[in-house]
Amino acid sequence: MALTAQQRDQQIKEAEELLFSGPQRLGFGNGLFFGHFNAPLIFPYPEIKLEERNAVRQAVADVRRYCDEQVDATAIDRNAEIPRDVIAGLVKLGVLGMTAPKEYGGRGFSQLGYTKIMEVLGGHDASVAVFVNAHHSIGIRALVLFGTEEQKRTWLPPLVKGEKLAAFALTEPLAGSDAANVQTTAMPTPDGKTFILNGEKRYITNGAIAQVLTVMARTPVPGSSETKVTAFIVTPDTPGFEVVEASMPKCGIRGTATARLAFHDMPVPAANVLGPLGKGLRVALTVLDFGRTTFGASCTGAAKTCLQAAVRHAKTRIQFKQTLSEFELVKKKLAFMAANTFAMESTTTVCAGFIDSGAEDYKLETALLKVWSTDALWQIVNDTLQIFGGQGYFSNEPYERMVRDARINLIGEGANDVLRSFIAGVGMKPVADALLGVQSALSNPLRDFGKLWNFGRKQISARLTTPDVPVRSQELRGIARDLGKRIREFSLAVQSMMFRHREAILERQYVQERIADAACDLYASSCTLGRLDHLLTRSNGNPDEVRRDAQAGRYFMTLTNRRIKQNLAALTDNDDDATTAAANAALESYGPRT
Ligand SMILES: Cc1cc2nc3c(=O)[nH]c(=O)nc-3n(C[C@H](O)[C@H](O)[C@H](O)COP(=O)(O)OP(=O)(O)OC[C@H]3O[C@@H](n4cnc5c(N)ncnc54)[C@H](O)[C@@H]3O)c2cc1C
Repeated sequence: MALTAQQRDQQIKEAEELLFSGPQRLGFGNGLFFGHFNAPLIFPYPEIKLEERNAVRQAVADVRRYCDEQVDATAIDRNAEIPRDVIAGLVKLGVLGMTAPKEYGGRGFSQLGYTKIMEVLGGHDASVAVFVNAHHSIGIRALVLFGTEEQKRTWLPPLVKGEKLAAFALTEPLAGSDAANVQTTAMPTPDGKTFILNGEKRYITNGAIAQVLTVMARTPVPGSSETKVTAFIVTPDTPGFEVVEASMPKCGIRGTATARLAFHDMPVPAANVLGPLGKGLRVALTVLDFGRTTFGASCTGAAKTCLQAAVRHAKTRIQFKQTLSEFELVKKKLAFMAANTFAMESTTTVCAGFIDSGAEDYKLETALLKVWSTDALWQIVNDTLQIFGGQGYFSNEPYERMVRDARINLIGEGANDVLRSFIAGVGMKPVADALLGVQSALSNPLRDFGKLWNFGRKQISARLTTPDVPVRSQELRGIARDLGKRIREFSLAVQSMMFRHREAILERQYVQERIADAACDLYASSCTLGRLDHLLTRSNGNPDEVRRDAQAGRYFMTLTNRRIKQNLAALTDNDDDATTAAANAALESYGPRT
């Protein structure tokens, strides 16, 4: 039915409000795509709650001491195994159940408190950090969030005590980045009391050493021929559970055991369905949001280790009659490390703050954190090895291991390329919905597309104002104004790309990448600015540290300010056609791998 003029005006008004007046219900990341800086969502910079501050401080000190004294990262890498007594030591410190509620034997820490522990582990040994992350963030978390009371009482206490280890099994030969393409099936028996699982999983961290696995399998949708993914709690003592390969040899994080598994007519009680039937992907994606936040924390730890080592080496190694630290190209690397390390910690803290605040949806923010922090760490470990020169290349120093270890971060828990598309898609969707609201108000959307375009162009450029980025520190006002300008330009660029490419933008990954990278920088800058403001207006009492950190934070803002401009400029000035032509030429000259 055609809309009346009044209905049409109302629909356009609603769309305008969404586009221009700052809807409070959007998350911080989505707000950026509308040109908003939703300050109350990230300011003031989150702090660990007073009541747990001492406990977290003590736990951080204990875990650090334990790592320094007992965790030999070189041996773990060489032997491709985390010794059982190291796992026992971590259990004793409560590391395997840090955020599990106290009633199940956990320490009940906030996510922010937990990131401080993960930072220490990530700075000491990536294998241990990934082992803990797989057990805790994506193992225990699934139970805490989606388990029934009975499931929690049964499984959480032994997991928290380390009597049982956890794993999370989603990936399969045909379901990697395309996680929805799970082929493992779970067919209910006629009495509905049991599901029979068949299929295989690969690349599963802790897969062969875990006693509790969350396994994703396809179940029939009652009354239809469709199937949907459901999460199951599986134990390896079940008949039909096969460990095909316990520990696949690999590039880095060699201490973790990454397994291939198979299920042959394996019966799993219906009571072991985790979360609602058919909602397994929601379980997986929600749990990954936690995992991605802890990724940020372990990257921060590794980055701090690199920064300290690179600075010390640069100050002592002499070439051309001067220390390496005198050379500008070494300074440039150290400055990048300092800036990104500060920003990584800031962005991780804000993400953990979202989780602790009970926010409903932070998938965009955790994806932004994961992509840019893992990319930044990759450059940091590479630059550290470069500063150490030949010495860094040998295995008696930790840097070649750190390079190998850091590589997984760009692939695991969502490959960065795939997440860039995800970021652009999730960020642009509400904007598209708002514009489509206007479009559907026009009587013939296709014929009237020009009208819509005109609406968009005029309205957007005339009405989108530079958002206010409120800071208390006088000396940060200029930086805050620049950030506001970049947010406005970003939002204009996003909307202009949507008008230019329309539905085809879903296929335009060159465009998506630039939008996602600019979004990463805007988000990381916003979090960094919050921390800088906190630092400069509520000094921690150590002036040297404040001066150093403030310098690093300011430099990060300068770097990202320039990079955002470059990414937005490249939306219209680029070599995309030549890129596609060169790739296609290469694709035509070789056959597929046999
Ligand atoms: C050491 C390790 C531990 C792991 N632990 C676990 C675990 O505990 N549990 C679990 O379930 N899984 C685990 N994984 C699996 C991991 O999540 C997957 O490897 C990851 O999701 C990528 O899937 P894939 O390897 O099949 O790569 P593919 O999906 O084949 O992708 C290969 C590459 O293609 C590109 N690509 C793919 N799709 C797109 C796209 N749409 N757009 C642009 N580029 C694209 C990306 O560059 C990507 O890196 C682990 C993997 C490793 C290596």
